[in-house]
Amino acid sequence: MSDPGKIVVLVIEDDAQIRRFLRASLATQGYRLLEAVTGEEGIRLAASQRPDLIILDLGLPDMDGLRVARSVRKIATTPIVVLSARGQERDKIDALDAGADDYVTKPFGVGELLARMRVALRHAAREGMDPKDEPVFEVGDLHVDLVRRHVRLGGVEIHLTPIEYKILAVLVRHAGRVITHRQLLQEVWGPSFANQTHYLRVYMQQLRKKLEETPARPRYLRTEPGVGYRLVDE
Ligand code: CA
Repeated sequence: MSDPGKIVVLVIEDDAQIRRFLRASLATQGYRLLEAVTGEEGIRLAASQRPDLIILDLGLPDMDGLRVARSVRKIATTPIVVLSARGQERDKIDALDAGADDYVTKPFGVGELLARMRVALRHAAREGMDPKDEPVFEVGDLHVDLVRRHVRLGGVEIHLTPIEYKILAVLVRHAGRVITHRQLLQEVWGPSFANQTHYLRVYMQQLRKKLEETPARPRYLRTEPGVGYRLVDE
């Protein structure tokens, strides 16, 4: 019998060393692990066992991890955290477009992975909840009230232009998770602007000037190189 109180994590990864590492680190955190070595086995377990979260390697022996992500998305909203190799920005973007929630880059530290998992699980739990139930976002000195449309930094009201506010509001709704340039452009400007990455660069620069103590080394509005942005939430 499995412990019904435990969060079940499905690991789809062909690298035995990484599976062993995940087994050791996740078990001590109280997660229950299911393991699949191939994409096919992973899809099957995702459907039959209904895990709470999936950790998915992109380079699998029988199929591309992207295909696994797409197949899982057809049957479930289970959060997916992708494991990808450094320098594969295109793969990360494709994985996020295919329905993955986030990624960590190999080699990764367990602290980073656990943080990504927590955020993904939190967002999954919040799916379908009315955003009005949680209208205030706070991290460090930054305070964003999505109902009153107030932004404060260290208690001081910050004036944002409508576009700047819209960008920040989208980031707040994705807080802790990466959002691709494309997703952000589509949500703020609309589908026909999906490739206007230079718009974002300009506006992010302005936002950082208003919200960051050192805009060149942002504390809140982080750049995910080649992929997009992430508003830190812890
Ligand atoms: Ca692999």
